[in-house]
Amino acid sequence: MFYRDPSCLFCKIINGEIPSQRVYEDEKVVAFKDIKPSAPVHVLFVHRNHTSNINDTLTRSPQDILDLYSAIKTYTVQEGLDLSGFRVLTNLGNDGGQTVLHTHFHLLAGKRLKM
Ligand code: 5GP
Ligand code: ZN
Repeated sequence: MFYRDPSCLFCKIINGEIPSQRVYEDEKVVAFKDIKPSAPVHVLFVHRNHTSNINDTLTRSPQDILDLYSAIKTYTVQEGLDLSGFRVLTNLGNDGGQTVLHTHFHLLAGKRLKM
C-alpha cells in the first residue's frame, strides 16, 4: 500500500479528487501535464507513495526514485522524446522553487531549452 497525505494537492490529483490531464500511469507512478507549462512538453511525474521532496524520498523510500525514472524512460521512449532530447529536474525548498510538497520530476521537452 502507498502512503497518501489527504491534504496534498498531488495526492488528490493521483486519486482523481482533482482533475488533471494524465499522460502516463502505471501501478506506481502517475504523470500529468503541468497546469502552467514552461515548455511545449511539460509533464510532472509523481509516485503514488507520498514523500515530500527528493531527499525525503531517498531517506524513506529510495526505490520510488527508480520507479519514477523508469516511468520517465518508458514515456520518453514511447513519445520519441529521447530522440529530440529532454530535461528532467526536481526542486527542493524555497530557494529551489518547490511549491508542491510531494516529490515530483518535471519533464521538459519540445524546444531547445535554455539553462
Ligand atoms: P514545483 O514548483 O513544486 O517544482 O512544481 C509544482 C508544479 O505544479 C508547478 O510547475 C505548477 O505549475 C504545477 N501545478 C500546481 N498546481 C497544479 C494543478 O492543480 N494541476 C497541475 N496539473 N499542475 C499544477
Ligand atoms: Zn502527496
